[in-house]
Amino acid sequence: MAHAPEPGLKEALACVARDALLDHLQRGEPRHAVRLLVLGTARALGRAVCLDSVDAQGEYWHEGPPQPQPCTTLFLTRLAQPLGTVHVQGTCSTLALEAELQPVLASLSELLHQAGRAPAGAGRGAPQADLIRTALAGADTYVWEWTLDNDWLTDIDQGLQLLGWSASEVGHTQADWTRLIHPEDRDARQQACLRHQRGETAVYEHSYRMRAAHGEWRWMQERGRIVERHADGRPSRMVGTQADITQRRALEEAARETAHAQAASAAKTQFLARMSHELRTPLNAVLGFAQLMETDPQEPPAPGQLRRLQLVREAGEHLLHMINDMLDLTRIESGGMALQLEAVPLRAVAQQALDMVRGTADKLQVQLELQPGDELQAYADRTRTRQVLLNLLTNGIKYNRAGGRVTVTVGRAPDGWAAVDVRDTGLGIGEQALRHVFEPFHRGDQLGSGVDGAGIGLSVTRALVELMNGRVQASSSVGAGSLFSVLLPPA
Ligand code: ADP
Repeated sequence: MAHAPEPGLKEALACVARDALLDHLQRGEPRHAVRLLVLGTARALGRAVCLDSVDAQGEYWHEGPPQPQPCTTLFLTRLAQPLGTVHVQGTCSTLALEAELQPVLASLSELLHQAGRAPAGAGRGAPQADLIRTALAGADTYVWEWTLDNDWLTDIDQGLQLLGWSASEVGHTQADWTRLIHPEDRDARQQACLRHQRGETAVYEHSYRMRAAHGEWRWMQERGRIVERHADGRPSRMVGTQADITQRRALEEAARETAHAQAASAAKTQFLARMSHELRTPLNAVLGFAQLMETDPQEPPAPGQLRRLQLVREAGEHLLHMINDMLDLTRIESGGMALQLEAVPLRAVAQQALDMVRGTADKLQVQLELQPGDELQAYADRTRTRQVLLNLLTNGIKYNRAGGRVTVTVGRAPDGWAAVDVRDTGLGIGEQALRHVFEPFHRGDQLGSGVDGAGIGLSVTRALVELMNGRVQASSSVGAGSLFSVLLPPA
């Protein structure tokens, strides 16, 4: 069984260990506490757990369900004396399991030891507070004891040490302790404690901030119970635990922020997808009618009107292109882009793409060329491969100069991948701009140059290539031209 530590599991197990020891402190029945511990551990792990032990009287003792199969067995000892065995459902590394269950095993050893000293039915054995403290230290937790009659916190040195103070600096009363609590948290803590004292809660539990010796605020989690009352019911002694949970809270906060950012990003993606989709319908109508008017034999437009209609259509087509790119980008981001991966003949697809941009190239007096070579197949999506090449070819043409050239080469890269190189003799891209060339809406040196573009083409290109398990590389030198290489897995 794979055994990856889960976030929160360590905390849950420490909590189970703490609760069992507190139960023992309150009831003085170690066997009851052991039962709680075995049950709680099984629940936290989500796996069957049982315990076998022999007490000081030689009585065999099984706790939990029958031994699960298969299982991992851990041996409990104390000062080289065997105390029992713990069986955990599933097979995994004993060392890893031992490390994970450390607070549970420490408490279990302590409780078994105490159960051995006080056999079942022998009544309340006095819990050994010192030993329990030692066991809990493994769970980064310390035990406090509060005598209410004289407001005395016994042995709080460990708790103060957690915060970098020494007991002589602070004092031993609840009032001394409270002085270190954040002023905003004092009242809520007192209310929680009073609720437990009045019997409204079974356990006193509260988290609050405390000032550490270096001045920073640390989050403390406190749990406790009244263990003794006067004859008239007034509480006289409370025992509890305290743990520094600052780091855990920071992790929780970071996880919340990440979830929040992901939700915001998903909402933005959804909004863009819907917007792009809604814009396409009226835009297609504009384009359709412009085309109809241009070619209407019944009412042919006057030459001036024809030119203006062409401008409407060209601007509309440009807008449609941008919207389609945007839709693709949002689809890829949201994982909604479906691909049909198959063996794609790269030279044939490159030829198709070249034919599609030939009109634009002629208009801008840019020559197109496909270098001779053998056909090569990539494992990719045919339509998306053509879209990628169209994007690169269009850029090579529009960021070129009259008399320039765009050359396509299909071949095998040194690592065996199928490669298509699109090389131009155009304007080139500066070093700084080249670093951001694949980022959405980045137009680099061409911002304000008058060449149409929205800066999405290359980000769509890269996203599509990566979706097809490939990669795209760019190199360029200003004034000499650029080279974009698409590398795809060979078929
Ligand atoms: P667009 O072309 O719509 O601006 P792209 O994402 O395709 O968006 O390109 C981003 C930017 O990268 C362009 O604005 C341009 O500055 C630069 N660029 C891309 N390809 C080339 C190229 N072949 N030659 C020079 N610059 C290029």
